Formats: sequence, C-alpha cells, structure tokens
Amino acid sequence: MAFTTDRVCTLADLGPGSFGGTTLAVLGHPIGHSISPAIHGAALAEMARADSRFAAWRYGRFDVAPEDLPGALDRLFAAGFQGLNLTVPHKTLAAGLVAEIDPEARPVGAVNTLLRTPRGWRGYNTDGHGLAMGIREDLSADLKGAPVILLGAGGAARGAAVECLRRHCASLWIGNRTPDRLSELLASLRPVAGSIPLHGFPLREPPAALPAEALVINATAAGLRPDDPAPVDLDRIPRPAGVYDMVYNPPVPALLRRAAELGLPCANGLSMLVHQGALALAIWTGAEIPVAVMSRAACFAVAASR
Ligand code: NAP
Repeated sequence: MAFTTDRVCTLADLGPGSFGGTTLAVLGHPIGHSISPAIHGAALAEMARADSRFAAWRYGRFDVAPEDLPGALDRLFAAGFQGLNLTVPHKTLAAGLVAEIDPEARPVGAVNTLLRTPRGWRGYNTDGHGLAMGIREDLSADLKGAPVILLGAGGAARGAAVECLRRHCASLWIGNRTPDRLSELLASLRPVAGSIPLHGFPLREPPAALPAEALVINATAAGLRPDDPAPVDLDRIPRPAGVYDMVYNPPVPALLRRAAELGLPCANGLSMLVHQGALALAIWTGAEIPVAVMSRAACFAVAASR
C-alpha cells in the first residue's frame, strides 16, 4: 500500500511506492470525519490551473494515536512531507515536538500547521487567524474594540482568547463549565491581556455584569452532537452584537438556533476552518490561495457528510 488521498492512511502506508509528488496531510485521532482533504484538494486543483507545479501536490489524512505522534512526525519528515495539519488531540503535544515555533503560536501553546524546514518542522497556529477572518466575513465584525464573551476553556478557547487579546478586544469574558480549567486559562492569559479587562464566569450562571453588544464565541464542544443543548442560555446575556459558533457540523447547533430566533447575526465555524486552512496552504506554498474555492468545497463536504 502507499500514501493516497482517497482514504484514511496509517504510518504503514509510508512504504516504497509512496506518491512521488509534494505531499501534505492532516493528522488526527479519529480523522475519518475530517473535511480538510476535500478543502485542500479543491484548492490545489484550482491552483494547478494557473501553475502546473501544483498538479503534483496531494493532501491526505493519517490516523495517528497520541502516543505515536513523536514517531509519526519523524517518519513523515523523513518521507519528505512538505507540510502537516494537526487536529484533535495533537495540537498541544506537537507544540513541544517541533524544532522551531512561530513566535505568534507560543502564547497559544499549540500548533495546527507544520512546515518542513532544513532544521526540522516549524510549527504555526493558524486557528486564531481563521477565527478573526470568519467573524469578519460572516458577521461583518472585528475583534478589535469589541467586547467578547468566549465560551470554553479548552485548546480552541485558548487560541481564540489569545487572538482576541492580540487584536485588542475591548474586554474578554470567558465562561466555562469546569472552574479549575477556567482559572488555569485566566492565569495563563493575564500576561497577554495587559490592560484589557479579563474576567471569568460559570457558564450556568452568566453574571449581570456581562457587556451588551458583545461578540459571543462558542469554543466549547457543546453542539457537536445534534441533540446537545446550547452551552449557555443566550437569553441571560445582554443582547449580543453577534454569535459565532466554532462547531460547523451540525451546521445549526442549538446556540445558533436560539441566536437566529432572537434575530441576532450568527454563523457557524465553517469559515474559520476554511481560513485557517487557507493560511496553512499559503505557508506551505507561498502562493495566492483560492479561498472562495475552499469555501465552496467545505460547504459541499459538510452537506455530503450528513
Ligand atoms: P477541548 O480542548 O476538548 O475543550 C472542550 C471545551 O468544551 C471545554 O471548555 C469543555 O468544558 C467544553 N465542553 C465540552 N462539553 C461541554 C458541554 N456539554 N457543555 C459545556 N461545555 C462543554 O476541545 P477544543 O479543541 O477546545 O475544541 C472545542 C470545539 O471547537 C470543538 O467543537 C471543535 O470541533 C471546535 N473547533 C473548531 C474549529 C474550526 O475551525 N471551526 C477549530 C478548532 C476547534 P470543561 O472544561 O468543563 O470540560
């Protein structure tokens, strides 16, 4: 067997006879559900129309268990891969395994994009860029100057919080279900926040002091299952300027259903996925990226998965 883009690969596929062109892949566990190969495949096909070099680029997916990640990164480097994406559960672990880390990814403590360099893998985090672009595109809103109410304290929330602070949001309120995780996140963010007001709150009890006209960003996993309740009762938050849910499959989780009922501008996280992927592809190729083609491919891939 050899590396291929039409099914989930394992490291056993890295044998003789592997694909000879330029190779990219996403690593996760599980990974079968990932739509990144469809999005990147569409972009590379479009890019090949203008520049024939890209006809020999392929993007696949590998199922790699967390304990196998160090060996997998070594083997994929030795096999000549040009770039990798990392998804759950590898982003934090990989940050400690790369030869170099982009300074912007350091405060996030996680990487989702690796670039081949002569010294080894260089790690980047493109999720924050994806979030900011997705909010701009779908909600016509800017993180700069906005009060932000962020839901969640996991890896995605950490990346989102750093991006909000780096872009000088007006204030940042973070709600989480588990208090200890929230306290740890707040403590690690204080040096990044500087003079920007930073507060925590329990998701079940949104405080009266929450700001009005805020951007509400869901970075919890609540909503991934179709029958999940919303992570927070939107009716207990002063009327937000918009609601962005990082979950994109199902496309309308409970939080966005309620936001639409309340007449609020709202969007799911598909645009974030597309824009983080577009920046990763720009890092790997140095070329102009057909973002609109990636967006269309993402919409089709989600529809096809349902
Ligand atoms: P993670 O590190 O496992 O963190 C999960 C977070 O969700 C924690 O804050 C957890 O709270 C919270 N949570 C889980 N179930 C909950 C529930 N039923 N009610 C309230 N809170 C709940 O995961 P992650 O990597 O941060 O990912 C979080 C979400 O972001 C996932 O849905 C992921 O698919 C999405 N995401 C989307 C994109 C995109 O491109 N659109 C990119 C990255 C991530 P506790 O601390 O209380 O457990």
